[in-house]
Amino acid sequence: MQIIRVPVGAFITNCYIAEGQEPGRGFLVDPADNPKKLISILEEKQICPEAILLTHGHYDHILAVPKLQERWKEIPVYCNAKDIPESLTEYDMGQQFPTVRAFKNVKTIEDGQELVIAGTEITVMETPGHTPGSVLFLTKDAIFTGDTIFQGSIGRTDFEGGNERQMMQSLRKINHLAIEDITLCPGHGDTTTLKWERAHNSYLKMCR
Ligand SMILES: [Zn+2]
Repeated sequence: MQIIRVPVGAFITNCYIAEGQEPGRGFLVDPADNPKKLISILEEKQICPEAILLTHGHYDHILAVPKLQERWKEIPVYCNAKDIPESLTEYDMGQQFPTVRAFKNVKTIEDGQELVIAGTEITVMETPGHTPGSVLFLTKDAIFTGDTIFQGSIGRTDFEGGNERQMMQSLRKINHLAIEDITLCPGHGDTTTLKWERAHNSYLKMCR
């Protein structure tokens, strides 16, 4: 699997464009913002996205979804139901942002679910803490960690719906994954590895 990291938006959120084994078939993780840029990369690389995967529902990870759904009309959006609020929008800093509820063709996912997208096997692992519905997407080449784990750090638990105790349980779950090492693709900042984080991330080290 080829993975392209595209940092976009006011919070420099990582959108990942992944291309599966078969050339031209791919998917997006967290299309955070700047749909023009994402669409032009997909077109230039001749990758047809078959799904949008959301690690969680925060607006700074989803802002490009409507424009992508205009360009690729049938594209489904996968998100944990716990991160799909009742309302279509949320208000922040006087601005109106869409929530996952506003998107078309939303498919809910849950812990342990196996997806096959663009020929790639993807396992969903719930890791609540940053938000109630935060998930990791595990593939054989990389794990998309959203705002649960960053290089040397973890996501905040002080936003609405955040929970420190759940975050610690989620970190324990990640520590106990039966994987020796794998690339981690976080929602912000540089790519890292599971082995490095187990050895150096003080939050993960606290939750053995
Ligand atoms: Zn977040």
